[in-house]
Amino acid sequence: MKLTSLQEIGEFGLINELKQSATRQNASTQYGIGDDAAVIEPGKKQVVISTDMLVEGVHFDLTFCPLRHLGYKAVAVNVSDIAAMNATPTQILVSLAVGGRFSVEAIKELYDGIRIACENYKVDLVGGDTTSSNSGLIINVTAVGEANPEDIVYRNTAQVNDLVCVTGDLGAAFLGLQILEREKQAFLANPEMQPELEQKEYLVQRQLRPEARMDVIHELRELGVKPTSMIDISDGLASELFHICGQSGVGAAIYQDKLPADEQVLNTAEEFRMDPLTCILNGGEDYELLFTVKLTDFDKIKNHPDITILGKIVPKEEGLNLVTPSGNAYPLKAQGWDHFQQ
Ligand code: ADP
Ligand code: MG
Repeated sequence: MKLTSLQEIGEFGLINELKQSATRQNASTQYGIGDDAAVIEPGKKQVVISTDMLVEGVHFDLTFCPLRHLGYKAVAVNVSDIAAMNATPTQILVSLAVGGRFSVEAIKELYDGIRIACENYKVDLVGGDTTSSNSGLIINVTAVGEANPEDIVYRNTAQVNDLVCVTGDLGAAFLGLQILEREKQAFLANPEMQPELEQKEYLVQRQLRPEARMDVIHELRELGVKPTSMIDISDGLASELFHICGQSGVGAAIYQDKLPADEQVLNTAEEFRMDPLTCILNGGEDYELLFTVKLTDFDKIKNHPDITILGKIVPKEEGLNLVTPSGNAYPLKAQGWDHFQQ
């Protein structure tokens, strides 16, 4: 197949192509791509806005990350931030810096992923910006959401005796990245080699194509449960728990035997001679939700298959501790990813 260079169709030609993947599903979307700015009508709702930038070589590696997955992930990680405010995502803007080595077809692959995510999360692509890059690919997504003012959930409102909960399982995305890095090195050493991904599918999928937990946000609403505080897990459970506790002025006790992990996480950590507990507590990029609920909501969530009750909020003086099955408490450390300390 002959690939089309970006020079052939130019910036406006490209925008025109990208416009085709723009959806319009939300009543608040008044005007999307095509003018100097998009127009949104929030009605009586409050508007929630978040933005995230993904940089080639820092956040993703195109040797093993398909462009379609990358587009999906760029949207999902932004939707995850909107979900963590207990809001509903409604619009996104996508800004791209692209080097000349990318073909129009490659950019369309990226936008296929963006479009699929827009459909799944019911958000409208209403604009963005397109420019050239002298180095790698940069994708910035801004997500807009809406919520009734009384429904928004912040990080700084956890209370002593609240239950600490998490969705899904942890540590898989981090180990997925270790697997992909290992296979890349093996491939560079011997290009004839086939990647060994058997029994690792879940890990790789969690790294390349994470989901925002909007499903749980809707289910909590149906159950009549409003979290008392919430954050999404991009940098690891421990690090996010420090954010909630630090901003709320409380401590927490987390029970080690409650930590949710897939079997592939336990097996693979062993293979890499890593402590599975470290992967679960500090892995990052799982995009699950960490939240607290009132003790009185216990019955409403205790049987939910995707929610695990990990522990409880305690007075600040008690600190943040991991309680082992034998009952010993060890202070938790936030070893999350800090881009300026690597
Ligand atoms: P301006 O020069 O005023 O910034 P642009 O030519 O950059 O306008 O954009 C024209 C329209 O196309 C705008 O509605 C803008 O939001 C949209 N747009 C530009 N780049 C993208 C992109 N990568 N994805 C989605 N929409 C885009
Ligand atoms: Mg512009």
